Amino acid sequence: MKTFEVKAFGAASREADLEPMTIARREATPKDVEIEILYCGVCHSDLHTARNDWGGTKYPAVPGHEIVGRVTKVGGEVTQFKIGDLAAVGCMVDSCQTCANCRQDLEQYCLRGFTGTYNGRDRHLQQQTFGGYSEKVVVDEHFVLRVPTNLDLAAVAPLLCAGITTWSPLRHWKVKEGSKVAVVGLGGLGHMALKLTHALGADVTLFSRSADKIQEAKSLGADQVIISTDESQMASVGNTFDLIIDTVPYVHDLNPYVATLQASGTLVLVGFLGELDSAINTSPMVMGRKAISGSLIGGIAETQELLDFCGEHNIVSEIEMIKMQDINEAYERMLKSDVRYRFVIDMGSMKN
Ligand code: NAP
Ligand code: ZN
Repeated sequence: MKTFEVKAFGAASREADLEPMTIARREATPKDVEIEILYCGVCHSDLHTARNDWGGTKYPAVPGHEIVGRVTKVGGEVTQFKIGDLAAVGCMVDSCQTCANCRQDLEQYCLRGFTGTYNGRDRHLQQQTFGGYSEKVVVDEHFVLRVPTNLDLAAVAPLLCAGITTWSPLRHWKVKEGSKVAVVGLGGLGHMALKLTHALGADVTLFSRSADKIQEAKSLGADQVIISTDESQMASVGNTFDLIIDTVPYVHDLNPYVATLQASGTLVLVGFLGELDSAINTSPMVMGRKAISGSLIGGIAETQELLDFCGEHNIVSEIEMIKMQDINEAYERMLKSDVRYRFVIDMGSMKN
C-alpha cells in the first residue's frame, strides 16, 4: 500500500519529551477521507499514553484524538465529504463494523476491538496508528464527523473526546430536566460535563478539590460546588444524585461518592482505569440499589448527535491555545490541574 510522509510530534520512549518526527500515512483508499489537521485538543489520555501509564504503549507514540480540519482528498466511494469541507475525527478510526456492538452504533465496544486513533493497529498498514499531533490524517469515512459551521473551530476539537465521553453517559442514563447529576473533577471532561448537563436542563453539582474553581464552575453551569475534601459538605449531599460522572484520572476512594447517590443511582467512572483502592463497601449499594459503572467515549452516531446538539445550543469547550512546540510544558501543567479547561494545539505552528 502506498504511503506518504507527514510531520508529527511524538514521544520516542516513556521518559522522552515529545519531539518533531516524520510518520507515514496511507494514501487514501476509495473509502478514505484525507484531512489537513487545523486544531487538535490535548486529552489527559494523550499524557497517559505518552508515559505508558496504562501499559502497552508502542513507541514512537504520536498522541491526539480531538481532531478538526479540512478535507484535502476523498476516495472514489466517499459520499458524505468533499474537498474543502470541515471534518472531525475523535478517538476511533476503525472497527470491524459487523459485530453485534458495531451494528448497534457502539463501535467503541467493538467485539473485535476498535482501532484507536493512536496506539491502535492500523487495519490497512499493519502498523501502529498515529494521532492528531500531525499535519494530516487519513480515515475511513464512517469514522469522520461533520462539524457545525457556526462554532469556533478550535474550541470544537475537545468535543471529539472530552465532549462525547461525558455526553454518552448522560444519554445512556437518560438525563433530562429535573435529573440530579454530579460531576467529579473539573478538568477537560468535567467542564464539558457541566455544560452539557446544564444544557439538558438537569440540576448539576461539581465535586472538586479546588476551591479556586468555584466561581468558574458556576459560570460553566454548575448549580452547586462541593469541596470533596470537606466532610461536612460531603455529608450535606448524602442520598442526592441520580447520576455521578467521575472524571478523576488517578486512583481514589469511591465510597464517599456512593454515599451521595440516591436509591437506584449510578456512579459512572470515565477517568480512572485500574484497581480501586480503598475497596468498595457493598452495603450502601445493596441497601439503596446503587450501581458503579464505567463508560468509554461514545459511538460515531452518538458523537455526531453531540456535535449537532452543540451546534444548536452554541456549546464549545473553554480552551487555551498552544503551539505544538509547547506540548511538553502543557503536559506538566495538566498534571498540576493548571488548565482552564482544555489545551488545543494550533497545528499551523507545525509549519514553523
Ligand atoms: P484533566 O483535564 O487533567 O482533569 C482531571 C480533573 O480531575 C482535574 O482537573 C482535577 O479536578 C481532578 N483530579 C486530578 N487529579 C486528581 C486526584 N489525584 N484526585 C482527585 N481528583 C483529581 O483530565 P481529562 O482530560 O478531563 O481526563 C480525565 C480522565 O478521563 C483521564 O484519566 C483520561 O485518560 C480519561 N478519559 C477517559 C475517556 C473514556 O472514554 N472513558 C475519554 C477521555 C479521557 P479538580 O481540580 O476539580 O479536583
Ligand atoms: Zn481523550
